[in-house]
Amino acid sequence: MGAVKMIDIVTFGDPVLEKKAEAVAQYDKELLLFIDEMFTALEADKGIGLAAPQVGRSKRIFITELDDDKKRIFVNPEIVATSPDLVEYEEGCLSFPGLYFMVKRPASLRIQAFTEKGKSFTLEAEGLLARVILHEYDHLDGKLFIDRITPLKRERALLHFRKLLKM
Ligand SMILES: [Zn+2]
Repeated sequence: MGAVKMIDIVTFGDPVLEKKAEAVAQYDKELLLFIDEMFTALEADKGIGLAAPQVGRSKRIFITELDDDKKRIFVNPEIVATSPDLVEYEEGCLSFPGLYFMVKRPASLRIQAFTEKGKSFTLEAEGLLARVILHEYDHLDGKLFIDRITPLKRERALLHFRKLLKM
């Protein structure tokens, strides 16, 4: 077998990042292969979370891989509950290489989702895992982390980002 063409991560400016993603209808071999490719892309970029729209596929799928946690797959996820207490923490995004800022998000959450084989599960998460889940979940609704900061900070961040990319 030769090398397979791997999927690429799309960066800010690509309209797919601002679209609401569609539900996954079929749990088939194609889905398994796609999720495998997502993990390859995530690991190549040394990220901790990746959503399907970030590789140009407008589908409700995201994955996480934290150092102290197993690989996790969320298909057609729904955030069932979030804690009222918010925490602020520095975030990055593979679709905004080189850009980091403080974002406030709920400290913990409960999420219901399906595995890559279509089995339903519920997970309670806190700390970094909760943060990554909330960040990736936003991607499925076309929402980006720059939408979670003040307009002034957002403007500055985008200026900085365009300079980085020489847009
Ligand atoms: Zn992101």
